[in-house]
Amino acid sequence: MESEREAARRAIKRRNWLAHLWREWIVESRRPIATAFARPIPDTWKNDDLTAAWLGHSTVLINFFGVTILTDPVLFPRIGIRLPFLTIGPKRLTEPALTFAELPPIDLILLSHAHFDHIDRRTLKLFPESTRVITASRTRDLLRGTKFCEVIELAWNESVLLTPRGCALEIRALQPKHWGARLQYDVHRGYNSYVILRNNRRIIYGSDTANTDAFAKLNDGEPYDLAIMGIGAYDPWIWAHSTPEQAVAMADAAGAASQSNASPAHSPNRQNGSRCVRSARPLFCHANMRDPVQLAKSQTPKPQIPGKIKIPRSRGQDRIGRRLRRWAR
Ligand SMILES: [Zn+2]
Repeated sequence: MESEREAARRAIKRRNWLAHLWREWIVESRRPIATAFARPIPDTWKNDDLTAAWLGHSTVLINFFGVTILTDPVLFPRIGIRLPFLTIGPKRLTEPALTFAELPPIDLILLSHAHFDHIDRRTLKLFPESTRVITASRTRDLLRGTKFCEVIELAWNESVLLTPRGCALEIRALQPKHWGARLQYDVHRGYNSYVILRNNRRIIYGSDTANTDAFAKLNDGEPYDLAIMGIGAYDPWIWAHSTPEQAVAMADAAGAASQSNASPAHSPNRQNGSRCVRSARPLFCHANMRDPVQLAKSQTPKPQIPGKIKIPRSRGQDRIGRRLRRWAR
């Protein structure tokens, strides 16, 4: 027989779930998505340099000496489970800085792990078969329905040499401190951070990670030109994500942030309940000031003072919400 404690736990779970549904479908659906802070102009980027622009959340467009790379592309208003006419899942706060039609031809898509905000099948289905994909081990099955011909799974410490349009590019996978299940129980899936190498230049794509010494182990005395580190969703999930301070420290430890001129760039798609909300975004750090990386600074938004987003609620919404919560008790 169910104990009183178990019953109470179930009631709390049910109440939280209903509150979640209430928020997602009533409050969130009415919230407008903010326009992008700024729009990069990739057509103006030079092919003999490294240029990067944050498009939103973990999506970063990189021109790496003529090779175009897109990380974890998510370009639609919501992520989550796709039904015929709607997507069940969180809604983004800010629209992507570029639409799919505004993107240059993409040579390589880097997918870090299976979470819905990193592998968005609806977005991935837009790309042509000529785009190569590198993804974490045991995540290839999530790309069914896409047009991709070349999908490479990389396990931790594995690397691959590619030659998109004749340009040599090496990708290495490393283990961040995170997890890879798309749904609750598929914990067999891998989850990666990456090092991208070309023309003796190096980029770190950290993606989602809690504070870890994995990046310090990359330090070989030579600088990294760019480190893209996630700084969102650490409250209350500090065991899986890092604060801005931790992200900077990890980039520093790798040898990527020994100089200043860091520019933040990775945001959660939705409110997280702390300072890592609308303004939180991936953090770009770069080190090689001898030949500075162009961060498309004029085209990327200025860092904002983080703050909790308050979504205005009408009296009617409050009343219905109270009734729902009472019913769930
Ligand atoms: Zn994640």
